[in-house]
Amino acid sequence: TFPRFLADWEAGRAERVYRPAAKPAITRTPVPRFDLLDLGAYSSMALQFSRGCPFDCEFCDITKLFGRVPRTKSNAQMIAELDRLHEIGWRGPVFLVDDNFIGNKREALRLLPEIAAWQRARRYPFELFTEASVNLAKLEPLMDAMVEAGFAMVFLGIESPNPEALKRTKKTQNIDKGDDHYLLHAVRTLQRKGLEVSGGFILGLDGDGPEVFDAQVEFIQEAGIPRAMVGLLTALRGTDLYDRLEAEGRLLGESSGNNVEIALNFRPQLDSRVLIDGYRRVLASLYDPGLRSYFARCWTLLSSLGPRVSGQRRRFGTDDLLTVLRSVRRQLFSRQGPAYAGFLLRTLLRRPRRFPQAMTLAVMGLHFQKLTLQILAAHDFREAAREGYERVEREAAAAAMSGAALQTALRRHADETLRRLRQLYRRLRPELRQGLLPDWSTLEEAIRACVREVPVGQLLQRCGLRLRECFAASSWRSALAAQGYALARRWQDDAVPRTLAVAPLSEQGKLRRSLERYLRELGVQVTAAGEQMAQLTQEGLHRWLDESGAPDGLLGYLRAVGRRVDTVVVPLGAELAASEERVQVLAARQADEATRMPHLVCVRCEASPRQLRESLIELGIALTGDAGRAAVAFDRAFALI
Ligand code: SF4
Repeated sequence: TFPRFLADWEAGRAERVYRPAAKPAITRTPVPRFDLLDLGAYSSMALQFSRGCPFDCEFCDITKLFGRVPRTKSNAQMIAELDRLHEIGWRGPVFLVDDNFIGNKREALRLLPEIAAWQRARRYPFELFTEASVNLAKLEPLMDAMVEAGFAMVFLGIESPNPEALKRTKKTQNIDKGDDHYLLHAVRTLQRKGLEVSGGFILGLDGDGPEVFDAQVEFIQEAGIPRAMVGLLTALRGTDLYDRLEAEGRLLGESSGNNVEIALNFRPQLDSRVLIDGYRRVLASLYDPGLRSYFARCWTLLSSLGPRVSGQRRRFGTDDLLTVLRSVRRQLFSRQGPAYAGFLLRTLLRRPRRFPQAMTLAVMGLHFQKLTLQILAAHDFREAAREGYERVEREAAAAAMSGAALQTALRRHADETLRRLRQLYRRLRPELRQGLLPDWSTLEEAIRACVREVPVGQLLQRCGLRLRECFAASSWRSALAAQGYALARRWQDDAVPRTLAVAPLSEQGKLRRSLERYLRELGVQVTAAGEQMAQLTQEGLHRWLDESGAPDGLLGYLRAVGRRVDTVVVPLGAELAASEERVQVLAARQADEATRMPHLVCVRCEASPRQLRESLIELGIALTGDAGRAAVAFDRAFALI
């Protein structure tokens, strides 16, 4: 599509999106510029042979992105890429990052002997690994050819030992009606061929019951899969799963894309709390602090692994020696010491040739265990943050109704809450803090805002109630029309906001505060509700609350706020239901300049979090023209809701 785009561009009629009629062939993909990489910063290099997968698992977006007919590179391309890596001095692990390396079995079989010859001629400089579907275990010639080519590990999407869940998620290639232990047998077959199996597992599939947690752990232990990646099911936009859950009304929002986050973007069949607690238990038992279950899996693996092909040997350099020394120092004298020492000793005595691999697994164990602790700590922080914020908010509402004593206690309690949360936050490594929602500044600001609003809390509540009554009156639109308000076509005319306030309409202070933060993140100057109320009180303009009828009350409020800001955002629920639009701009074009009536941006904020997100992202796009920025701002600002 690029030449078409260039031609259109030159002719001044470029379109926003160009879609090719068919997926592009990858036979003309150039050799990547590996020479631009800082090789020391990588533990493995990545090559790609094919794109696409013939299967159609419900949760997977690969087939939607790359299609179900796998496209492959030519043998010559692959050899050229291997040559290039070799020339620049890379030695060691190379990941063939195909979604399913055996998606096109015939082409894979055609490629493998060439790779094997290339590797043999250079004494196996690369240790290859890839991803494949479980049916690889039924394809003897392919397995043999992979081992011969120097593959040492294969990642399988095992997902679940629960056949019912596999069936429902359309992963029937992982079921064999004639073999109740098909997955276990498949793993063992691959191991006997000499291929370590690492696996992906999913919890929360439809059909999963509370017994699934123990079943997953038992399966992983018995199969001997040290590197087991267990995750919660996520509904990715564009997948069949996403569409089904949406049709069933079970979708809660978009996936965060953070694969180490313990969060659900849909309503599972299993109770959410049970699912999340069960998931935490699975992680904690697979990577327990003493790593007993991990090293037990490592031993099952090493005792099942078939021999390596002749000529293949693992190089042991100075870096490796340093890693071993560091590992001994850190692991031998830690809680992992007994299991660590037992595993390495056993390997030395019974599978000495596998000792370098055992050492690699031991070091990986430390990494997995630390990562697991961090994932759990990040979840603890998020849960505590939500709980802490909610408690401070409840206490702030109570303090607003009472005297100074409660306000002092609230301030003290908010400080204590923040101190406790900061301790939890500090336990997280910097890389886990990145992308963590809520982030620290959002949380701190939200809690402090609750405290700040207390002095005007009563007024805020009265105002919210009164405004809701005004908007509930069926005549609010005609009252505004009589004042010269008209529906603007989005931000045309002079409706683009520069200064803005959110009408404190919502019963939920949380929604309003998040909305204010969201708008600030989009770069708009926002007057917080507390400040708004303080100004109204100062000017004695809050009397409209008690004295005016519906339309006058509303107009009084707008006139008062309009002296400070040019736009008021009104979060509306059912009032906009008659309109299909999520965001409506009412411009006060014909209003008397002297009265400075603000423009209104009515945003449909319905009960469902997903609809709220859609409305606000639409507003964000209208304000910034940048959907990505709006999505990021929303996720940050609404992380506590
Ligand atoms: S086998 Fe793997 S890559 Fe293929 S559709 Fe299923 S999950 Fe996706």
